[in-house]
Amino acid sequence: MVYLPLKFFALRVIDRLRNTKKTLFSFEILPPLKGKSIQSLYDGIDPLMEFDPAFINVTYHREEFIYKKREKGYLEKIAIKKRPGTVGICAAIKNKYNIDAIPHLICGGFNREETENALIDLNFLGIDNVLALRGDPIKTETHFVPEPGGNRYAVDLVKQIVDLNEGKYIDDNIENAAPTNFSIGVAGYPEKHFESPNMRADIKRLKEKIDAGAEYIVTQLFYDNSKFFAFVDACREAGIKVPIIPGIKPIESLRHITFLPKFFSIDLPSDLTDQLENCSTNEEVKEVGVAWAIKQSKELIDYGVPCIHYYTMGKSATVKRIASEVF
Ligand code: FAD
Repeated sequence: MVYLPLKFFALRVIDRLRNTKKTLFSFEILPPLKGKSIQSLYDGIDPLMEFDPAFINVTYHREEFIYKKREKGYLEKIAIKKRPGTVGICAAIKNKYNIDAIPHLICGGFNREETENALIDLNFLGIDNVLALRGDPIKTETHFVPEPGGNRYAVDLVKQIVDLNEGKYIDDNIENAAPTNFSIGVAGYPEKHFESPNMRADIKRLKEKIDAGAEYIVTQLFYDNSKFFAFVDACREAGIKVPIIPGIKPIESLRHITFLPKFFSIDLPSDLTDQLENCSTNEEVKEVGVAWAIKQSKELIDYGVPCIHYYTMGKSATVKRIASEVF
């Protein structure tokens, strides 16, 4: 029996994207809530394996702060992480499915040394792909506050990863430091990031991430393909030449109709809301949502996107229905 090291199976995402002749299928999962077993994660992945995912992204969730009542009316501030385990989950996915798992790495909550240590762990595990993000402000903050000694913007995180790829560690006394080989993806927003003053300014910032060394873009979810096409055009005009992967999330519940626009700062097209207005149950919404996502996906494939990335948010049944029609 020949044992192949985990590293043997690793492929940099950018190489997959460059070499593909057809549109690839990929998806994003959330680490299970604390206390749930790894099996709950596999139960979400198994149904999607038949569509030969090119890679699976694993989100990262920052700590949240809660206040607990203590004696004499004192309140104790406690940090809790509800969904830990991004790095471990990526290793587990790679081990079980031989698929590249892409951890999301964020600036928030990490100083640069902690970030470097996480990257070293990933490198040891043979995980050569990272999606570099800033992260959102936590609930108790009005705006994003970087960790003391941490990265402020995603571009700073990209630069740190590129440094490591060049063998430059924070401690510059290290001799003969081994370079890493991370393929770096970043986030893009077809409807603009909510803090950005306008689309042009946002794309300028996006280009800074690419110029710093990011190799591809995964977009925020959207429901109007014309906005994605306009975004791609604007990126190309600004000199961004890397692959741009659209992110798709089927609407699945009545709650999504108000939650998604608010949480992700996106619009739902009126053709879609006209159909959703006629729904009175989550089941009816799901039917509209699946049909819409199938239509969107087919149009994106005709347009020639290198990959479509589906946001499962822990629920793979609807993504399976879409993929069955599209891939
Ligand atoms: P940045 O690229 O740093 O941009 C943030 C804002 O700052 C933008 O408005 C930008 O225009 C502006 N900006 C950038 N550089 C500068 C500069 N030098 N000076 C002034 N302004 C600047 N969040 C999580 O917590 N965990 C996840 O797993 C996660 N996964 C995601 C996956 C995808 C595909 C996407 C699209 C988002 C994800 N997010 C995740 C959310 C993301 O962290 C937030 O949208 C966050 O607010 C911005 O992250 P970013 O990497 O786009 O930030």
